[in-house]
Amino acid sequence: MQTKTALITGITGQDGSLLAKHLINLGYRIIAPTRKNPDKSNLNNLGIIDSSLIEFLIYKQFSDFEAIIAQHKPTEIYHFAAMSHVGQSHENPAVVFDVNCNWTLELLASVIKNSPNSKFFFASSCEIYRNDLPSPVREEDEKRPNNPYGISKLSAHQMVDYYRLVKGLFACNGILFNHESELRPASFVSKKICSNVARLVKSGGKPLTLGNIEAKKDWGYAPDYIKIIHEIMQQKNAQNYNVSTNKLYSVKDMVNAAFSALNYEISWQGEGIKTHAINSAGDTVVSINEKYFRPLDNRFLRGDNSKIKQFMQNHSQTPFTQWVKSMTLNEYKLLN
Ligand code: NAP
Repeated sequence: MQTKTALITGITGQDGSLLAKHLINLGYRIIAPTRKNPDKSNLNNLGIIDSSLIEFLIYKQFSDFEAIIAQHKPTEIYHFAAMSHVGQSHENPAVVFDVNCNWTLELLASVIKNSPNSKFFFASSCEIYRNDLPSPVREEDEKRPNNPYGISKLSAHQMVDYYRLVKGLFACNGILFNHESELRPASFVSKKICSNVARLVKSGGKPLTLGNIEAKKDWGYAPDYIKIIHEIMQQKNAQNYNVSTNKLYSVKDMVNAAFSALNYEISWQGEGIKTHAINSAGDTVVSINEKYFRPLDNRFLRGDNSKIKQFMQNHSQTPFTQWVKSMTLNEYKLLN
């Protein structure tokens, strides 16, 4: 059987590195263009940094991808690289749009010109949906993003649709709902919770301070989503898919799961912004600060995942409490 080649943009990120590991296990050869001096710590943590199956390349500008695609004609292209922080996207919308949308368009144009048989996956986002839709949302539901990240993702998403429907490319949008892992950067709340809980249990110190702990998300585990993304690319026809759990968990649920992963008892006291959690000695371990509240904390968006049900049955899905436990134990281990 011929070896499959996958080009991954964003291989240094959470999803790119996890996908690389999955594809190496499946025997793929991986083309990995990165910016200069890439931070390869995720690949190192996953034990694949020295894999002979990964060919790293340095690119200077997005137009360099034309030659890379023409030379390698990858079987599958996974376009993950993006400025992925929703909150930070308000600060520099033009750059976010250029990276997240214009680059995607350049890639699609290069693929159709130089390697039209390559399959293309785009990491779209649940941030594209209208924010007051009753959930669970389906792939065809109304899109109306309200932040530069979501706007850039929707524009790129629509370009992917255009290249599929009009140009005939095998091009899919995975509409990804939040997914976390041990590789999440510190700027995300899951990492903040798990690392601070590990620190508090290990050595105490100042409380973990959060915003709206009643905010709920459709939260999944990134290593599970990677396998679904790969399945999406093995189908006969290209389509768009929500990649979601269709379940909601609150920030408070995550705090409870993280403490309980380390067998540490807490109890919640007070109401509203005075809510706090204390340990068995009566010390406050979690407090609330309004400065961390977000405008859409009351957006309880869940994704209808009927279209990926079959793929989910092929790969066991890690329950919420189990992956929060895994992330917390990992943080605890790092403190030793
Ligand atoms: P991530 O960990 O933030 O990784 C982002 C990747 O993009 C990194 O490899 C980074 O490379 C690259 N990148 C960032 N800014 C760039 C720029 N200006 N130019 C070129 N490359 C740049 O993201 P992730 O969590 O793996 O997410 C993967 C994809 O899924 C992203 O497109 C994200 O928007 C989308 N998504 C993720 C979630 C989620 O919950 N994780 C949900 C919905 C959609 P460097 O190492 O060079 O910085």
